[in-house]
Amino acid sequence: MEKQVRVRFAPSPTGALHIGGVRTALYNYLFAKKMGGIMILRIEDTDQTRFVAGAEKYIQESLEWCGIKLDESPWNGGQHAPYRQSERKPMYMAYALRLVEEGNAYYAFDTPEELEEMRTRLEAAKVVSPQYNAITRTQMKNSLTLPEDEVKRRLASGEPYVIRLKVPRKEEVRLQDMIRGWIMVHSSAIDDKVLMKSDGMPTYHLANVVDDHLMEITHVIRGDEWLPSAPLHVLLYKYFGWEDTMPQFAHLPVLLKPTGEGKLSKRDGDKFGFSVFPLQYHDPENPQNSSSGFREDGYTKEAFINFLAFLGWNPGQGSQKEMFSMEELIEAFSIERIGKAGIKFDINKAKWYNQQYLKLKSTTELTEFLFIDLKANHLVCEQSKAEKITDLLKERIVFPTDLYKEGIYFFKTPTTYDPEIVKSRWNDEVKTALNGIKEALSLESEITAASVKELIHSVLEKLGIKMGKVMQGVRLAITGVGAGADLMETMAILGKTEVLKRIELSLKVLG
Ligand code: GLU
Repeated sequence: MEKQVRVRFAPSPTGALHIGGVRTALYNYLFAKKMGGIMILRIEDTDQTRFVAGAEKYIQESLEWCGIKLDESPWNGGQHAPYRQSERKPMYMAYALRLVEEGNAYYAFDTPEELEEMRTRLEAAKVVSPQYNAITRTQMKNSLTLPEDEVKRRLASGEPYVIRLKVPRKEEVRLQDMIRGWIMVHSSAIDDKVLMKSDGMPTYHLANVVDDHLMEITHVIRGDEWLPSAPLHVLLYKYFGWEDTMPQFAHLPVLLKPTGEGKLSKRDGDKFGFSVFPLQYHDPENPQNSSSGFREDGYTKEAFINFLAFLGWNPGQGSQKEMFSMEELIEAFSIERIGKAGIKFDINKAKWYNQQYLKLKSTTELTEFLFIDLKANHLVCEQSKAEKITDLLKERIVFPTDLYKEGIYFFKTPTTYDPEIVKSRWNDEVKTALNGIKEALSLESEITAASVKELIHSVLEKLGIKMGKVMQGVRLAITGVGAGADLMETMAILGKTEVLKRIELSLKVLG
């Protein structure tokens, strides 16, 4: 029987979860569900210096908003609980000691000053990347260089120490990445990474590998910033004797700045005016880290997920389909269809998706958004009128708040007029047309879009004025701006009295 697929998303609670992290979570989830497998969330909080209170809650809320459901996590438990590495702390030391006993790791007692001294010495000798490795370790204070009884004495006296991996000097480390293919690294390029820190906490590398093994992870799907760590992890699997059950690796392509140069960062979001976080984030300790989120910016979760899914994956040649629900994504997903190349972040694509998903919502649902803004602005509007406005504007909006923004002139009689349009469109012909329309309108009882269209046509025909020449001026008089939804429909919603009032006002104000 095939082994059940078990994947994990393993964020560190060091701040707001970046959009790239959400994509990693999403791809893990899609793969797990596609394969009938299990999706796990593990909190990797072994680096206490980078811990940020509230970050874990933020991760939880973000995934909930996205609809990424976890089978095992710190919040809903599971067969391998606990799922926070800080709570798993007692179990890591035994693994590190096992490596020491078997000669694959060693104690190192070097002080920060001694390490600094080594770096300076190597830099002076023009060593390209000065590191603690198979060569330099021979000159340092560790259990490979110190006499055994001294090592014992130092350990017994409680002297601070770390445990380092003893990386072989000459060995080829190979791994097959599901996205990148075969990767080969020479062990001389890997340094003797610290596995256990002097505070008794494991480092990311040890905890990550031990936990992936204990949690029976079958596939490690993560950002490609972890690719350089993968050979080291492969060595750890080998030394632990877990090669048979080593997970398969898939390193996801990097998300690039909108310009395509370099990795997408929070600063790019600030610069180009979009968020790189799923939810609004407030960092009480460092307010400058606070940021808005896709949710608060008005993106629907369906649009956000659909947009994210396509940042690195596609359904394959021949498929024109762009709109995918979560269920459809699960159905269509495969790791083979994830590309290697970095993906340029294009916020316009996210907007496009949002527009499409808003269009799919019912008028009643969308009208609720309009009422939120009306209420906030202390404006009242009848339900039926609000629905008509929503219906009219539906095709034009990218965000729910656009209903109010675009439709503001339905609720407030314009008192100012777009100066650009006044300059280019306000002229005697428009004024003549407006006077004619005003006269004809006052004879009507009520108007519909069709009747007002007919009315304007016949007025202009009588006056010998071409419709195309004056309509933008007429729109200006009624809405204060030069563009918007269908003008006849707009006038019908406003009603005869309001339209007359606005025509008169514009003639008075603009002269
Ligand atoms: N804790 C790592 C992170 O913050 C996890 C990397 C991995 O998935 O192995 O991204």
